[in-house]
Amino acid sequence: MSAVAAVVVHPADTVAVVVASVGGRAGQTLADGTALRENVPLGHKVALRDLAEGDPIVRYGEVIGRAAAAIPRGAWISEALVRMPPAPDLAAMPRTRRPPPPMEPLPGQTFEGFRNPDGSVGVKNVLAISISVQCVAGVAAHVVERVKRELLPRFPHVDDVVALDHAYGCGVAIDAPDAQVPIRTLRNLARNPNFGGETLILGLGCEKLLPERLKDGDATADIVRLQDDAFDGFEAMVQGVIAAALPRLERLNARRRETCPVSDLVVGVQCGGSDALSGLTANPAVGFAADLIVRAGGSVMFSEVTEVRDAIHLLVERAASDEVAEALIREMAWYDAYLARGGADRSANTTPGNKSGGLANIVEKALGSVVKSGSAPIVDVLAPGERIRTKGMIFAATPASDFICGTQQLASGIALQVFTTGRGTPYGLAAAPVVKVATNSTLATRWRDLVDLDAGRIATGEASLAEVGWELYRLILDVASGRKTVAADRLGLHNGLALFNPGPVT
Ligand code: CA
Repeated sequence: MSAVAAVVVHPADTVAVVVASVGGRAGQTLADGTALRENVPLGHKVALRDLAEGDPIVRYGEVIGRAAAAIPRGAWISEALVRMPPAPDLAAMPRTRRPPPPMEPLPGQTFEGFRNPDGSVGVKNVLAISISVQCVAGVAAHVVERVKRELLPRFPHVDDVVALDHAYGCGVAIDAPDAQVPIRTLRNLARNPNFGGETLILGLGCEKLLPERLKDGDATADIVRLQDDAFDGFEAMVQGVIAAALPRLERLNARRRETCPVSDLVVGVQCGGSDALSGLTANPAVGFAADLIVRAGGSVMFSEVTEVRDAIHLLVERAASDEVAEALIREMAWYDAYLARGGADRSANTTPGNKSGGLANIVEKALGSVVKSGSAPIVDVLAPGERIRTKGMIFAATPASDFICGTQQLASGIALQVFTTGRGTPYGLAAAPVVKVATNSTLATRWRDLVDLDAGRIATGEASLAEVGWELYRLILDVASGRKTVAADRLGLHNGLALFNPGPVT
C-alpha cells in the first residue's frame, strides 16, 4: 500500500499534515513509516513522534502549541490536544533585523493599465460616487442604477459606476482620536487608482463628517449636497448628481489602457476561510508571486493584524529599517490594546471552519498566513487607511475580517487583490478585481466557476510551487491588463464596503 500523502514543512517539525484528498485511514503509513493510529481528515496533523504532555508541537519550524495530553506517534492531533502558547511579548522582543538580501531584479515586466493624473495606475476605469454619510446612500444607489441604465451605454470605455457605501459620517464621535481611521480611510478610498481621480462626492448638508474633509485638498472635486435649496424634490436631486457625473464620465471615457511597468502596480493579498492547506499551497504560491512583483519593482500589501501577530518576530527580522521594525511592533501593540478594550484577544480570530479545516489555533493560522508576504524585505508599514508611499513589500495594518481588510486595502491604494481560500468564500469587490486562489483541489473542483486558480495541485503533486506561483503572477498581469476577467466580476459577486471604525458611536 502506498504512503498517505502528507507534508512536513520544516525539518524540526513534530507533525505532518495529511494532504490526501480523502484523508488518511487508520493503519495506513506516512512516507517516514509513521503508522496512523486513527483516521485523520484532510488538512489535519499527525504526530511524527511520541509527545508527552507539555511537549512542544512544532510546525513550520515554530512552536504552535503544547501537547495538552500525551500524544503517541501516528495519532491525530485534534484542536483539543493543542494548548495555545502566549503571543510573542512585544516589549521584550529583540529588534534584531536580518533583512533578506536584495532580490534579483525582474526587468521588462509590463501590464496595460490606466495612468492617472497623480501618477498611480488603475486596472479598471470606474466612476466612483463617494458619500460623506450613510443618510444619502439610498440616493447614491438610485443614481448608480440610473447611470448604469441610462448613461453607461453612451460611455463604452467606462467599466462601471460604484457608490462607496459605508455606515460612517454621523452619529459618531467625530473628534475622538480613533475617528481619524475611518475618516482617512474614506478620503483615501476616493483616491483609489481604479477611480481615475474623478470621484464625485455626495453629501447631505447637516452631517458631522463635512464632505470637504473627503476632498483632500482637491479644489476641483465637486460636492453635491442633497439639502441644497436648489433641489426641489427627489428628481431634481437625482438630476443634480447626474449633472455632476456627466463631465466625469466624459473624461473617463476618453481614457485608454497604456503599457505601464509592473513597478506601477499595487496588489493586495489576503486570505479568508483558511484551512490547514492554506499555509502549504495557496499562501506560499501567493508569496512566490509577490516576490516576482517586488522583483519587477512593483508593490504588494499584506495585512490582517491578528493573523500576523503570532509571527511578528519573523516579520521584524525582515524589516528594511529600524523604523519599519518599530512600526510593525507599534501596529501590533495598538491592536492588542484595541482587542483588550473589547475584552478579547487574538485567539478570537479563528473560526469554527478554520478548526474543522485543521487549524488548531491562531498561532498555526498566522504562521501559514504570513507566507503570503513572500521573502522580500518589508519596506514600509501603513496604519489603517493610510495611503501607499513606498514601492515594495508593505504591511498595511487592517483587521483580518475579509470585507474590512478589502475596504482598508482599497483605501491604501491597491488596484487588484489576491484572495486565498480553503473553505471557500464567494468574496469579491466592485472597485477592484479579486483573484481567488483555492488551497485545495476539492474546493477548486466543486467551485470551478467561483475560483480563479487551483493551488491544491501543489499538494497533489500535479504542479510545483514555482509553477503555480508563476501561473498566478501571469494571471495577475492578465487581469490587471483587462485580458482576463475574474470569477467574482464575471458573476457580479461584490461585497459591500466595510470601514474599520475603532472609534465611539454616539
Ligand atoms: Ca481575511
